[in-house]
Amino acid sequence: MTAEPAPDRGSDARSTDIPSGGGVPPWLGAMLNFCSRCGGELEFGTVPGEERERLACAACGHIAYVNPRLVVTTLPVTDDGRLILLRRGIEPGRGWWAQPGGFLEVDETVGEAGIRETYEETGLVVEPGQIVGLYSRLEAAVVVIAFEARVVRGQFRPNPEALEISAFAPEAIPWSGIAFKTTYWAIRDWLHRRRPDLSAPAWPEGGPD
Ligand SMILES: [Zn+2]
Repeated sequence: MTAEPAPDRGSDARSTDIPSGGGVPPWLGAMLNFCSRCGGELEFGTVPGEERERLACAACGHIAYVNPRLVVTTLPVTDDGRLILLRRGIEPGRGWWAQPGGFLEVDETVGEAGIRETYEETGLVVEPGQIVGLYSRLEAAVVVIAFEARVVRGQFRPNPEALEISAFAPEAIPWSGIAFKTTYWAIRDWLHRRRPDLSAPAWPEGGPD
């Protein structure tokens, strides 16, 4: 009997350049030293019943699972078809263009998070519609969901998270100033759906991502 080949990871197993399967990113592992249940030291290694090595507490056996967090974002679109982007006021990607978004809170739905983050970062009230895409970013341990969202009301309101807020015609997306590859993918996929006559240029290497 021949061994089954490992299953394919699928088409969305992508990240900036790092491969899948690398375990906990070092920056995240560096913050996971002690057991959240008993305060004992966490050790990385084989754990009975687990398919991969895990961080576990030698004292009480608690396993510290490390999973990605969900970042909820919107691509706000005006009635005349322009896309709202903001120039980020905070790191990572300060000074570069991205869509509004942030971490999903534990006490809200995904749609609520999209509305809240968009309002906080732009001053616009949106109505989330179709999901444009869902993107893995392994090095940041996040999964980014992007909703297309109709701008219902509100006015641009610069704030600490947005140095500048602007509406771009699909022909005028600031491709060379995009902060994250996940933003690039989301705008590319949105454009492909809404304006198939236009196409996104290749990801410009040399940005902050
Ligand atoms: Zn413990």
